[in-house]
Amino acid sequence: MAEATHTGGCHCGKVRFEAAVDLDRTIECNCSICTKRGSILTAATADKFKLLSGENNLVDYQFNKYNIHHLFCSTCGTQSFARGRRPDGTEMVMVNVRCLDDIDVKALSPQFFDGKHKL
Ligand SMILES: [Zn+2]
Repeated sequence: MAEATHTGGCHCGKVRFEAAVDLDRTIECNCSICTKRGSILTAATADKFKLLSGENNLVDYQFNKYNIHHLFCSTCGTQSFARGRRPDGTEMVMVNVRCLDDIDVKALSPQFFDGKHKL
């Protein structure tokens, strides 16, 4: 696979986005929130992510160092993406691959990311 544009969103459908991502590059993270959510994530620079609807439906949840905005839908509670920055300041979006449309998650090979110790 290579970078391709996918659509996705939350469970109730109020939050919708499109993102150009490479599904050969996914991670499973063991930080405190990913452990509970079971997210599989892929990264996109902010210019490759477009929120199509639901801006007003998003609630921001932050913890730990308050670097990452864990945005979830206020209606259905689904966190389909998060916003943050690389150490060099580049705006990034971490997309929850499980929230993309028509993705076979079992066909992916996520790399383990030790967020528990690195975030
Ligand atoms: Zn929703």
